[in-house]
Amino acid sequence: MSAEQFRTEAHKVIDWIADYWATVGERPVLSTVEPGSVAEAVDGPIPDDPEPLEQVLSDVDRLLVPGLTHWQHPRFFAYFPANSSPAAVLGDLLSSGIGAQGMLWATSPSVSELEQVVLDQLARALGLSEAFCHRREDGSPGAGGGVIQDTASTATFTALLAALHRATGGRARTEGVESGRYTVYASSQAHSSLQKAAMMSGLGERAVRTIDVDAWTQQLDVAALAEALKADVAAGRVPVMVQACVGTTGTGAVDPVTEMGALAHRHGAWLHVDAAWAGVAALCPEHAWVNAGVAEHADSYVTNPHKWLLTTFDCSSFWVRDRSALVGALSILPEYLRNPASESGAVVDYRDWHPQLGRRFRAVKLWTVLRSYGLSGLRAHLRAGVAQAARVTGLVDADPRFTPAAPPCLGLVAFRLAADASGARLPDAEADRLTAALMTAVNTSGEAYLSHTQLSGRTVLRWAVGGWQTTAADVERTWQVLSDAADELLGHAAA
Ligand code: PLP
Repeated sequence: MSAEQFRTEAHKVIDWIADYWATVGERPVLSTVEPGSVAEAVDGPIPDDPEPLEQVLSDVDRLLVPGLTHWQHPRFFAYFPANSSPAAVLGDLLSSGIGAQGMLWATSPSVSELEQVVLDQLARALGLSEAFCHRREDGSPGAGGGVIQDTASTATFTALLAALHRATGGRARTEGVESGRYTVYASSQAHSSLQKAAMMSGLGERAVRTIDVDAWTQQLDVAALAEALKADVAAGRVPVMVQACVGTTGTGAVDPVTEMGALAHRHGAWLHVDAAWAGVAALCPEHAWVNAGVAEHADSYVTNPHKWLLTTFDCSSFWVRDRSALVGALSILPEYLRNPASESGAVVDYRDWHPQLGRRFRAVKLWTVLRSYGLSGLRAHLRAGVAQAARVTGLVDADPRFTPAAPPCLGLVAFRLAADASGARLPDAEADRLTAALMTAVNTSGEAYLSHTQLSGRTVLRWAVGGWQTTAADVERTWQVLSDAADELLGHAAA
């Protein structure tokens, strides 16, 4: 394909995306295809001869779109938003077109240096400490720094490796870890990526101590954490990492970071803060409280622009206060990667900051988003999500059939169907059954998509607002569908 042909063909793809975004709200949110049906439809040998792009796009429409669940749909309210946006797509296109591989500073200085600057800018805008910046405001080099990981799961894994490196004086990377000696702490509401990190690090998932939460707020119980740390130390174990969650996956609970940090540091443990979804809200001054305690206490911190912040997957921003622990855990220098810039010590080689060697130019995508929206545009987007979620909370509170399951947080509302139309409380098991049935009814209607969790053994619906195409009308429309489905289910239950 010549450059001129590419110019023409690229317009067709952009047209396809623009049409898709314009019409996505008219499609059923959740795909209902049977397992295997997409594979069967697209299966076959690689064509011997080149095919025109029109053919490919027509097959996307015909064969793939039916098997898509539309994450950019304005009534996608499941899990957390994974926002794309026009700016992010254009930034991603730049990254693909440039096609640079930034494993070393020397393999593309702009890839490394833009990433450092963008993450310094974002750290400051989120209210993290200067200690997390590559370059301090006075221009002097910092001890910390940020890196774009593919996901928060990888960020948490690398945080644990850095914490282990520090706790073992570097022996974890040379000798491995002694079974049962090292422990990790997080609440029962922490994301499963922590368990996976423990499995991958060789600690084993049993190293993770699951700390109780308050039954209503879902925040970690600090006294229980203190007890668990004390018991482990008394038994000769070494606490390696405490993880605080800012915005739990289930209900958006924000753990007491300050108290957890003080406890972690008293025991020589690393404090990692998982703010994968909620952290970006701190761009708005009125939501800056979510990151309280991070500047003073966190050793590492992750938040995902690829969730709420309009940056097409993948883009997870991760910072460490002391990069020597992270680089110490992960650096490796085969002869074929040696180069004078690395040896000078004056550059950041991001290959030492994550498990893989090769890396994309994700920073140009994030930079495009930050510049295209500006702080005012990003704040307007975040605030719209919070306002829409407040409307959901108002609707839940005003309807006697529904009960909040936890305090709403930012764009996330957790609730359940717990009473009949007169407001008479249903037995818990019946409420569980009806809540699950209600979610199925909404999701199979094609109108909207909600997801669920369990809290203290009870089934709970999660309504996560924050999509870039979501309007107040989408919230009202979804509520109507939900309310009608509840009428029908309660009618059947009473009959
Ligand atoms: N942490 C929290 C609190 C999450 O909610 C999630 C995903 O929703 C993750 C971590 C994992 O994110 P990722 O898919 O980027 O690994």
